[in-house]
Amino acid sequence: MHLYLRLHGIGGIGIIRMSGENSFEILNKIFKPKKPQEIENIKGYTIKYGHIVENEEIIDEVLVSYFKKPHSYTTENMCEINSHGGNVLVKRILELCLKNGAKLAEPGEFTKRAFLNGRIDLLQAESVIDVINAKSEREAKAGMNQLEGKLSKKIREIKQKIMDVMVQLEVTIDYPEYDVEEVTNTQIQEMLDTVEKDLEILEKSFDNGKLLKEGIKTAIIGKPNAGKSSLLNALLKEDRAIVTEFEGTTRDTIEEFVTIQGIPLKLIDTAGIRNAKDEVEKIGIEKAKEIADSADLIIAIFDSSKELTSEDMEILKLVKNKKAIILLNKIDLQTSKIDQNQQCLKEVSDYIIKISALNQIGLEKVEQAILALFELNEINLDNEIVITNIRHKALIHQAIEDVKKAKEVILKQLPLDMIAIFIKSLLDDLGNITGDIVSEDIINEIFARFCLGK
Ligand code: GDP
Repeated sequence: MHLYLRLHGIGGIGIIRMSGENSFEILNKIFKPKKPQEIENIKGYTIKYGHIVENEEIIDEVLVSYFKKPHSYTTENMCEINSHGGNVLVKRILELCLKNGAKLAEPGEFTKRAFLNGRIDLLQAESVIDVINAKSEREAKAGMNQLEGKLSKKIREIKQKIMDVMVQLEVTIDYPEYDVEEVTNTQIQEMLDTVEKDLEILEKSFDNGKLLKEGIKTAIIGKPNAGKSSLLNALLKEDRAIVTEFEGTTRDTIEEFVTIQGIPLKLIDTAGIRNAKDEVEKIGIEKAKEIADSADLIIAIFDSSKELTSEDMEILKLVKNKKAIILLNKIDLQTSKIDQNQQCLKEVSDYIIKISALNQIGLEKVEQAILALFELNEINLDNEIVITNIRHKALIHQAIEDVKKAKEVILKQLPLDMIAIFIKSLLDDLGNITGDIVSEDIINEIFARFCLGK
């Protein structure tokens, strides 16, 4: 029986979704609408008010939305019961559905069905996870672009360019006796060149995509009392709503995110910063080095009311050859002892910024510097397609390799059918991305990463 249902988390309202042939039938057994109506007469996208009942007992007052095939998320008949939230009621209604013949959905089952039923391709299905898990506006935007099919369209365009030549190539190989225009090596070469360029742009976008997805790993380093935790607080304060904490197994793995103009920064070792007060001795230069090494971005902060010490010089050494921003803090004290133009500072970063973490002065310059360092000013996600998924990146890389192999065959003037082998493999790589030819194992693996209820 194709019937699936799921409850969504706990909140003011609980939602139980059912999808499949029998979902309306099961709904009829448990839902008593205030104004009863035959299911045939209920239009899709309508909501009805009523009660969920079991043996005449009213269990909850609910709103039910109807979606009729093929115009639903899964393309099947679907309904969503909006009940009061909380574990008890939702669970009871869920059990009632199960008792009447529904089956519990697997993680990602609704989206999987939308894919298997052909409403969306694999790329779009995968983007659903990205949109749900997005930690920043830009990441959500990249996910939405993919959900809307922009990446799928691009991949299909590339595939079409290959197909146009491939068809001709096949005819040339298989029916040499036919009087068709033979495909020339130059034609194949030209096609491979443009395809390679297209794919390389996509592959390169992954670096930006990764930053959007995982956040720029940012370390704030500096001597005790330089103002690290004040800066951290200032950054978090501006953006308190989006701060998330992932409790790991140890206290040290707490990660905090802030978003700067839609770009997520993953602040590393914030536990270390917060606890530095009582652990000043322990933190030391060794630890700072370890943190600096694992970061994409280092924010080195110095107390500008004091002269630079040998310890500060050690910190500057850590920053060398890294993407770094130097902050001269406590400018509000107006007793600056550090010259912004000092060689030792300029050597390690182009961005030396005077701030007051305490009074939140100069923070916008810090933001600008971060965007400039990662060339993120350039990304306009409305137009640009950004790859954020490692599976896609791997397949695109493989496709580029196949293009290179095919080009080599042309260079060596080997027979045409050798070229055809690599071009077929290239088409397979691209088909794997959109899910046109993907194996069941991979599909299962992809959807297993989904949350329940989606
Ligand atoms: P950390 O040890 O590097 O984390 O430094 P803190 O952020 O705890 O700051 C150390 C001391 O410097 C605290 O008393 C802060 O209030 C003070 N402080 C931090 N930033 C500023 C600033 O911009 N101006 C002034 N006047 N004091 C600051």
